[in-house]
Amino acid sequence: MKVILPGATIGLLGGGQLGRMTGYAARSLGFDVHVLDPDPACPARAIASRTITAPFADAAAAADLARGVDIVTLEIEQIGPEALAAVAALVPLRPPADAVVIVQDRLRQRTWLDANGFPLGPWRPVASEADAEAAVARLGPTVLKKPVGGYDGRGQARVGAAADAASAWKSLGAGPALAEQFLDIAFELSVLVARREDGVMATYAPAINHHEAGVLDWSVWPAELPDAVTREAKAVAEGIADALGIAGLLAIEMFLTGDGRLLVNELAPRPHNSYHHSERAASINQFEQFVRAVCGLPLGSVDPLRPGAIANLLGDLWEGGEPDFAAALTVPDVRLHLYGKTSARPGRKMGHLSAVGASIEDAKRKVLDARQKLARHSIRNI
Ligand code: ADP
Ligand code: MG
Repeated sequence: MKVILPGATIGLLGGGQLGRMTGYAARSLGFDVHVLDPDPACPARAIASRTITAPFADAAAAADLARGVDIVTLEIEQIGPEALAAVAALVPLRPPADAVVIVQDRLRQRTWLDANGFPLGPWRPVASEADAEAAVARLGPTVLKKPVGGYDGRGQARVGAAADAASAWKSLGAGPALAEQFLDIAFELSVLVARREDGVMATYAPAINHHEAGVLDWSVWPAELPDAVTREAKAVAEGIADALGIAGLLAIEMFLTGDGRLLVNELAPRPHNSYHHSERAASINQFEQFVRAVCGLPLGSVDPLRPGAIANLLGDLWEGGEPDFAAALTVPDVRLHLYGKTSARPGRKMGHLSAVGASIEDAKRKVLDARQKLARHSIRNI
């Protein structure tokens, strides 16, 4: 394993908020950062000494990024395979291209998880109207998902009855899709594994996540779960990270069902929204851990220092004018994180609030209270 030391330059494929926050951590450790993103005004421009504006499928631009840096990583999995190969031919690419290619397509990801024996809810691939109808007839209420391009609940359609399956499939573009049984979810959790190329791992305790309309709304950490559930969740997560040969981070979203099954929902080979509280609540936060893991440096402690929570700030909060950020900051222990996005659209992640507290409930109360203050004031500002 090649170790990349502070003073070197890290190339980031993707310049969204995850890249921006990774960049802050990388700079703090003494690395320089270059970024490639299609948007010249991307959030990570603020921390990059060079920003290349190009699509994620542009192999020549990816090679250009690689030539100027010592190592390349990514903050979004939707990078074209040719671009990944172009990078890997020049400098270490962590995580490796084959792991990213498996994860970036939900169909490929689920097929791989199934083949490797990881626990999934009932599902079927769908390639036609007839497949969609047969899947719903077999699975009952179903979520149809596009294999690529969906995030924050986009690219999905819920189907209650087989008679509605064909129109739902067409609404998703009538292409390849997955039909997943609509599960009775007691709660959603995630586990974050840091893994170096040489196989050394450090795994954060699970986080509990709450989604609204398919988008993460708040998350708390560390989850208070029965020991057996925590152990199982970590074992499944580490098994997946190992089998994929991750170098960097792997976030595993999971469901605990009403009847007690722990099932994998989806994977992300990068920092994750549901671990933003690690910046406040963990000894070493996910962004620094990501840089360490990618560079082959010693991994830091994943121990909780204290309970933490985050609440996301979506573009909807900007509809009545600028939110009242100062009002949110009147809540003790709350920090505001804005991503520097130039336009607010409904559903777009613009920032988050984080807090620590005496318990996860206490920390959650603080971030939700701060968000309410921020929203209420933005309406008064019109
Ligand atoms: P995204 O990439 O948009 O996060 P997910 O597959 O994680 O896509 O779906 C978003 C959310 O939708 C999940 O966090 C969960 O709340 C809900 N969801 C997804 N799949 C199912 C399912 N099979 N049954 C019930 N709810 C689901
Ligand atoms: Mg998800």
